[in-house]
Amino acid sequence: MRLILLGPPGAGKGTQAQRLVERFGIVQLSTGDMLRAAVAAETPVGLKAKDVMASGGLVPDEVVIGIISDRIDQPDAANGFILDGFPRTVPQAEALDALLKKKHIKLDAVVELRVNESALLQRVETRVAEMKARGAEVRADDNAEALAKRLAAYRAQTEPLINYYSERRKLLTVDGMMSIENVTKEINRILSAVTTADAAKKAAGKTLAAKQASSAVKGAKKPVAPKSAGKAAKKAAKSAVGAKKTAKSARKAVKPAAKAAKKPSDKTATRKVAKAAKVSKAAKRPGKVGKSAKKVTKKRAKA
Ligand code: AMP
Repeated sequence: MRLILLGPPGAGKGTQAQRLVERFGIVQLSTGDMLRAAVAAETPVGLKAKDVMASGGLVPDEVVIGIISDRIDQPDAANGFILDGFPRTVPQAEALDALLKKKHIKLDAVVELRVNESALLQRVETRVAEMKARGAEVRADDNAEALAKRLAAYRAQTEPLINYYSERRKLLTVDGMMSIENVTKEINRILSAVTTADAAKKAAGKTLAAKQASSAVKGAKKPVAPKSAGKAAKKAAKSAVGAKKTAKSARKAVKPAAKAAKKPSDKTATRKVAKAAKVSKAAKRPGKVGKSAKKVTKKRAKA
């Protein structure tokens, strides 16, 4: 199963992604998490991303596309993955399409969690309060100001992806305002429908492939190969010339043989006359030559 989770920051993508990981045995690829890990480890990518992330801006495309491309190639992603936080813009979605095509990977669905913004603000405030109460470290971008910026960025840059994937018939929208449990149930329900539809498509494809294979076998028996038809035509023309020659010699043979036939005792001569007459007739009828050409063509096509 290869999925994209779409939704504004705080829509619950992380929570639902975790549940999908367990259900399908796939990995969650969150560009946000990967970038935060890179910042913490102070890798070159992390150093590039640190300030942009803290201000709630977007890290350059080539950085996130590179991270995703490398991550998809890891063995644990072979069974499937959920992209969370990527793609975030139409150019990133186009880059992802090209990337998946190159890797011969099919995207199964894009799940959009639809929520309203004021509820989001409430959720983020609750999350921050809970984390502070636990003594957990609060993300640098987990504050009202940064959230407002990220929401504006989502509306301007990420929301067009809803249209992008809807046009490509990949989009499945779920009401993210329901309880976490109900959102999970709804996601499971629509993904089961996708899996069933895919299985039906595959089965139908197999039947079609079998039909096409059988008609291809039938088609192969027909004399359609233009090259061999051309050769057969040449051969037919040659045999036409040959037939004319035979006719000439046959006509020559008719005279003395006819003479001999006047004697009733000469049976061999009678047969000779009959044979010569047959050859002569055949040579005059081009239809015969045509028929034998067809026979040659058929024989060649069968071979
Ligand atoms: P997230 O955890 O998905 O909200 O991401 C946190 C931050 O990481 C974002 O505000 C961006 O600065 C950066 N980031 C994550 N994913 C992307 C992406 N696909 N493109 C650009 N920047 C990203």
